[in-house]
Amino acid sequence: EDGSSPSVEQPKDKLLGDLLIDGFDERSCLSRYQSALYRKELLHKPSSYLISRLRSYETLHKRCGPYTESYNKTLEQLKSGQHTGPSDCNYVVWISFSGLGNRILTLASAFLYALLTNRVLLVDPGVDMPDLFCEPFPEVSWLLSPDFPLINQFDSFNQKSPHCYGNMLKNNNFANSTGSLPPHFVYLHMAHDYNDHDKLFFCDQDQNFLQKVPWLIMKTDNYFIPSLFLIPSFEQELSNLFPNKETVFHFLGRYLFHPTNPVWGLITRYHQAYLAKADERIGIQIRVFDTGVGPFQHVLDQILACTMKENLLPEINMQEPIVSQLGNQRSKAVLMTSLSSGYFEKVRNMYWEHSTVTGEVIGVYQPSHEEYQQTQKQMHNRKAWAEMYLLSLTDVLVTSSWSTFGYVAQGLGGLKPWIMYKPENQTAPDPPCRRAMSMEPCFHAPPFYDCKAKRGVDTGELVPHVRHCEDMSWGLKLV
Ligand code: GDP
Repeated sequence: EDGSSPSVEQPKDKLLGDLLIDGFDERSCLSRYQSALYRKELLHKPSSYLISRLRSYETLHKRCGPYTESYNKTLEQLKSGQHTGPSDCNYVVWISFSGLGNRILTLASAFLYALLTNRVLLVDPGVDMPDLFCEPFPEVSWLLSPDFPLINQFDSFNQKSPHCYGNMLKNNNFANSTGSLPPHFVYLHMAHDYNDHDKLFFCDQDQNFLQKVPWLIMKTDNYFIPSLFLIPSFEQELSNLFPNKETVFHFLGRYLFHPTNPVWGLITRYHQAYLAKADERIGIQIRVFDTGVGPFQHVLDQILACTMKENLLPEINMQEPIVSQLGNQRSKAVLMTSLSSGYFEKVRNMYWEHSTVTGEVIGVYQPSHEEYQQTQKQMHNRKAWAEMYLLSLTDVLVTSSWSTFGYVAQGLGGLKPWIMYKPENQTAPDPPCRRAMSMEPCFHAPPFYDCKAKRGVDTGELVPHVRHCEDMSWGLKLV
């Protein structure tokens, strides 16, 4: 790594090992083909089977996406409530829900589910999806059209909705329906507060039933892919798609999520100004879930303990300030992200007021400090997306427990982060952090149910590639 600015002369693989296809208008979404210039070569290559399934998905999407003949036809059926037998296009509709990190993870989950079930993924634009993400599929949009009949009900869909799958099961709505046709649509409540009935989604028997429903409408704030790997009927296909299980979000994320030009501007300008010239880039993502206003001393202690102990950042010289020779010292750029600026100021001042024992020069940067999570301001989520992406461009990453913001960065970057344990009782945990087992996100609310035996089971103990997470003992992740 020479650390110099990305140069266009280097022949980089702009299609990411054929994960992407050529032929999109480059200028409408610069990031799509430029991202390779800012990243290291892919450590892993997508399987040829994944590539072929993506190509066939693109064909399906072109045939069934918004305003195609098939789409209009099934929409008519949905509106009229009239059954005309099985439709040739089936859909999964993703409802825009929760913070941006969560949305990126759930959208990837919904897309993989669509791939596995031969459905077309359609995206509720919400307030800002088109402002943040380019279209990932050629020619036909992934955005649900504004005339979609149920679009105004998305906010009010919940566990008690009459069309909620779990609720229908609970009320035995399917009991006497032998011979009768399946519903046109079902609402799948997959948010963190979902109940045992909703969780039956993860059973083969229920997947069998859902197969017959043309429209599945899903609301979730969880990366539920690890549990898809425990559904027997998906097992073989998933193993063909992802021989290396650790790369699921990495590839799906790189395939789906291309920042729009305004966000790409935020990313590239920042990278060129502050990060590109350093010999090494270190990302530190701070997310504090404690109530009260920071910065907290115990969080700062933890950041320093982790980065020093793991040799990610050099110790400072507490003796006489040593004025280092002018010359070619190694430089490290530290990219910090946080809602508040307190941690960044402390770390930056520390490396200004003292020299390092290694002689390295440390620059510390933080793009924004938005103070609190916001939902309405356009620039707020553009910056959040830009920061996740910038973190993914670093060489070494330190993240906070429980944060999907950090999961997105590690997954896109193909990085196994050092995860800082969640502080308890306002004290820095010891050890402060540990290296992640894999770059995969953690599923925070997985089911613990054995569908066949109809009893509870520890789903983190069933197969070697689905384990409990480093940062959440009851969560599940792929390794
Ligand atoms: P999670 O809550 O950490 O899992 O991450 P989410 O992305 O789902 O929700 C947190 C939201 O708070 C983000 O979408 C941002 O809007 C905001 N946020 C949290 N941390 C940061 C940060 O470091 N920088 C910026 N710009 N926004 C942040």
